[in-house]
Amino acid sequence: MNVKEWVQQVIKPAEIEKYLVNGKDFIDVKSIWSNLSECTKPDKWQVRDILQKSLDIKLLSPKETAVLLNVEDPDLQEEMRAAALEVKKRVYDNRIVFFAPLYCSNLCVNSCVYCGFRSENCAEKRHVLTMDEVRRETEAIIDEGHKRLIAVYGEHPQSDADYIAESMGQIYATKRVTPTGNGFNTIRRININAAPMSIENLRKLWKAGIGTYQVFQETYHPQRYAELHPANTIKGNYRWRLYAMHRAMDAGIDDVAIGALFGLYDWRFEVMGLVYHAHDLERQFGIGPHTISFPRMQPALGSFVSENSPYLVRDDVFKRLVMILRLAVPYTGLIVTARERAELRREIINYGCTQTDASTKIGIGAYSEKKQQKENADKVQFTLGDERSLDEVVRELANDGYITSFCTAGYRCGRTGDKIMNLLEKGVEGKFCKLNAVLTFREYLNDYASPETRKVGERLIQKELQEIERMPFFTEKRLLPTFRTYYERITAGERDLYM
Ligand code: SAM
Ligand code: SF4
Repeated sequence: MNVKEWVQQVIKPAEIEKYLVNGKDFIDVKSIWSNLSECTKPDKWQVRDILQKSLDIKLLSPKETAVLLNVEDPDLQEEMRAAALEVKKRVYDNRIVFFAPLYCSNLCVNSCVYCGFRSENCAEKRHVLTMDEVRRETEAIIDEGHKRLIAVYGEHPQSDADYIAESMGQIYATKRVTPTGNGFNTIRRININAAPMSIENLRKLWKAGIGTYQVFQETYHPQRYAELHPANTIKGNYRWRLYAMHRAMDAGIDDVAIGALFGLYDWRFEVMGLVYHAHDLERQFGIGPHTISFPRMQPALGSFVSENSPYLVRDDVFKRLVMILRLAVPYTGLIVTARERAELRREIINYGCTQTDASTKIGIGAYSEKKQQKENADKVQFTLGDERSLDEVVRELANDGYITSFCTAGYRCGRTGDKIMNLLEKGVEGKFCKLNAVLTFREYLNDYASPETRKVGERLIQKELQEIERMPFFTEKRLLPTFRTYYERITAGERDLYM
């Protein structure tokens, strides 16, 4: 099959139509705008009632979200920020989960005007990693101390579902001897960011052991979407993308991740779009998004829009939108990436984020070649704001009181989808995560931390251990003896023990 033929068979219209309600999408442009224009002067009692609903870990309605989007009063915004942080604490405590992106291919049949990988960009050097290269990249990522990664792919027959599944097999099979020499470290969870697929192809990823499947809608506004994604490309089909996660659920993948590329259209509209998306997933499958991402558009090679879009989001607005997403979808993980500058990322974490990346390289093959982005500008998708090592970011966060977690237990113990949603809403999953965060942080401090990071990390881990000993939940559930044994065995050199 040549590329043209391949492109023509990707979209399965029946796998769009089955999710429509009376032939309509869950995104209704008119109702989003009318919600936003109805609640322009919210009073503080109304806002406080809504904040209470978030604090009870309940998904906000589109109307309630619109109210929060219209709050301009700085004092009320400060109350919202405090509530957002409290929501984060209730669900995720002081944990931050780390991952690394692994770019496997930059061949792409699409031509999104904001992306360095677009097919029309002749300045981009194209490459699809061989399995040997995937192994080398994975080894370099493990050697930084990572335990989970997100593999990223352009859309192309050379990086189709079979290639993705094969690369996942290679990543999971890659082992590194621990620096102390008495165990192995591996990547324990692979999340995937790849183009929307058919249910049949998504099942291949499920069988290969996918963690979370992530697709960003880019913009939820259909007309703006059409301006940015040429109609004769696969990505030009707004609806094929809009129901990517619905198909994933039908394929058995119940950890799904949504997002919007902020800067393409009005930021308030996109926040509403994400909330509508969460509602439709809950309505049709009983499970909301596992995470929400809010990448901000960064300059991309030869892309005029990426630097000149009229909708680019300022830092103060960016903080606001993260805070509102935290409040609107309280149970979900929020991901801030190394697209952002170091100072801003640190601040954004205080608005309720739960996951971030570090030691990030987005050039194809850049981890094993140890290349900084300026050395391979022609192999990347956009420009990074923060190239610091995992060690530096872990240390900074530990100094701010955040414990780094490399926990991947939830997915391996079947705590995914509706089960994890339930546990998150009741605050139970957070308790398991607390134990697993300490166990995986112990591994990291022993294996990879620099002496300075170890010093800060030891203080933090001791504090966590004391808290765990004092919490009645762990005694009632009789979890303490196992936890203590695991902690000692890990300290002695064993790896990958989890609750
Ligand atoms: N090709 C697949 C797709 O489009 O869904 C997945 C990979 S694509 C490399 C991952 C994401 O990068 C896109 O969904 C988009 O949101 C983001 N992206 C593209 N151009 C960007 C830019 N200039 N700045 C920041 N993020 C960008
Ligand atoms: Fe291809 Fe994805 Fe980039 Fe669009 S965003 S050009 S689909 S890699």
